[in-house]
Amino acid sequence: MIPMLDLTKEFLDIEEEVIASVIEVLKGTKYVLGPRVAEFEDRLAEYHGLPFGAGVGSGTGALFLSLASLPISPGDEIITTPFTFFATAESILYVGAQPVFVDIDNKTLNIDIDLIEEKITKKTKAILPVHLFGLPCDMTRLTALAKKYNLYVIEDCAQSFGSSIDGRLTGTFGDAGCFSFYPSKNLGCYGDGGAVVTGNKEMYENILALRNHGSRGNYIHSVVGFNSRLDEIQAAILLIKLTKVEHNNAVRRENAALYTSLLSSCVMCPYIPEGYTSNYHQYTIRSPHRDKIKDALAAADISSVVYYPLPVHLQKPLAQFGFRQGDFPVAETASAQVLSLPVYPGMPRQAIQRIAQVIQKCL
Ligand SMILES: *Cc1c(COP(=O)(O)O)cnc(C)c1O
Repeated sequence: MIPMLDLTKEFLDIEEEVIASVIEVLKGTKYVLGPRVAEFEDRLAEYHGLPFGAGVGSGTGALFLSLASLPISPGDEIITTPFTFFATAESILYVGAQPVFVDIDNKTLNIDIDLIEEKITKKTKAILPVHLFGLPCDMTRLTALAKKYNLYVIEDCAQSFGSSIDGRLTGTFGDAGCFSFYPSKNLGCYGDGGAVVTGNKEMYENILALRNHGSRGNYIHSVVGFNSRLDEIQAAILLIKLTKVEHNNAVRRENAALYTSLLSSCVMCPYIPEGYTSNYHQYTIRSPHRDKIKDALAAADISSVVYYPLPVHLQKPLAQFGFRQGDFPVAETASAQVLSLPVYPGMPRQAIQRIAQVIQKCL
């Protein structure tokens, strides 16, 4: 049996450190917004070369609080990709804005920059790019467009921790970078968690208040906020895991390189533009015979997952917007052809060879 993700080895490697640190938190009794959250926020901001980091309750919280920290009103439009995890669109709906989808690029599976400009209207306030599966979007062209039309850029970096373009990390191109520390993410904690990094002091201060009922902790409330804070225990774990994430990302890249060397003759392997570095949050192949491959893997007791089987514009909660099948054909075709394979850092190389064999044989 080869699982999609197995965190056992990763945990055993840091077990003693984690347990010691969690016990310290338990004994210290500062369980919410304590010193480790503050320290992790500093480390995270420093890692990204930005002045501000704010820990929040989840990746969804990071996206939603970032949007809520901006002057965005109901009816305003936010441009994003239809080929993403549902939370990206949810965050737009939470602030009452209208999601405006732009189809994806057939090679990168990220938002197609060439199609953005024609979707910009007087109501457009922001662009929300997603660095899907860990591959950065073309942020040079995207931020140039945003500048031209005076739009905010909020990066969904839930899948792209440590990914970069010419050495510059995702999350540092836009007004804010939003991270998820859900356990399966490249930097994952042991529950829910998220963070925003930004160079914008006003956004940062708004987010600190919004995550904590609209107050900076003095029981004076400037706005109606939310409860979306990063736990002290999770911050203690993240401080340890932050020191390992680059190594783990490098191992994922080695795993990906092995897959590509074995599979590129029979399926479409991830496309990485020159100068781009992916963290391979997912190793996602494409084939018109996707379902056959998935079945063959399942028969060999190998897990694989379709991220994502239905693009966001066709999901039921968006029915009110009247999108139809055929509106974003590249995303729709991708949904029918993609398959993500296990690529996690602790997996044995023989498992990759075996998976490749099963795929080659079934084609
Ligand atoms: C995981 C994920 C989120 C949401 O993060 P949570 O921590 O689960 O709320 C948002 N966007 C993308 C692209 C994700 O993969």
